Amino acid sequence: MHNSAHADGIEVALAYPAETRVTEVVPTCNVCQSDHIQRVDPQYNFCRCDSCGYVFDSPRPSIAEITAFYSQPAHYDSWLQEEHGRDALWRRRLKKFLPHRAKGNLLDIGAGIGQFLHHAQPLFTQVAGTEVSKSAVRIAKEKYGMDLYTGQVEELDLPLSSFDNITLFHVLEHVSDPARLMRRCMELLRPQGVLAIAVPNDVLAWTSKIKKLGKRMKLGRFEKFSPVLGIARAGDSREIHLSHFTPAVLRQLINNSGLTIGEESLDPYYVSNGARLMLDSVYYALHRTLYSVFTINYYDTIWMIARKP
Ligand SMILES: [Zn+2]
Repeated sequence: MHNSAHADGIEVALAYPAETRVTEVVPTCNVCQSDHIQRVDPQYNFCRCDSCGYVFDSPRPSIAEITAFYSQPAHYDSWLQEEHGRDALWRRRLKKFLPHRAKGNLLDIGAGIGQFLHHAQPLFTQVAGTEVSKSAVRIAKEKYGMDLYTGQVEELDLPLSSFDNITLFHVLEHVSDPARLMRRCMELLRPQGVLAIAVPNDVLAWTSKIKKLGKRMKLGRFEKFSPVLGIARAGDSREIHLSHFTPAVLRQLINNSGLTIGEESLDPYYVSNGARLMLDSVYYALHRTLYSVFTINYYDTIWMIARKP
């Protein structure tokens, strides 16, 4: 089945970038194994588990197709153009992680072009990273002198119980088997090792509610969003997200892997400058305050710290 379908001259949802093909159907919930799956928005390939609420893409592209998508030479050009904004982002995340880290080494899964490891390196005894994109691995080497492992962390030959810290910044939503990745983190961590996770919060975020409303009111600029979930078609962003987590679903995924949840918070994920940076910072601070008082997260992202017993 190819994704660029046209019916009666009306364009049907282009759910994935033209380079990728939608080939895999997901029969059971990755989080709770239930087979009670609802197709909440078939036009956008969004499904939801009736038992635990996990929202995911099905059908979806295969991992080979996703890897090819991220390995396109120009894929990271915008990251390089936003270098300073991204430096600031990595410093914010590092600052947020430091109070929770274990002394010792760090493994960054889905390390991209190695920018986080570049900032983190002085604070850990050793740093390592994994990355599926060949073009990102090449940039990491050229720009930061960082030798990343190429491939999926689940497949790489890494020493078990050997990492004091693992970071998973916006990785879980990209992988085809999040539960397997969590189990992999569990076995790679040393006892008392710390895992930091950040993912989008796009099922519950205010911004998704606004996008959903805009789409239902047929406002042009909201065209690309699902009228059911307010989430964009993967093909309309530069990313392919296969999972759409809520804090409750992420919590269940972490608990199932045997890790213990520590801090829950919001990920200061924004990349901007000038007046926009000020707005983004205020919006984040506002939601952090709301979260600390009511423990409700309607922000764009979820942040969790987990520990191996
Ligand atoms: Zn489920």
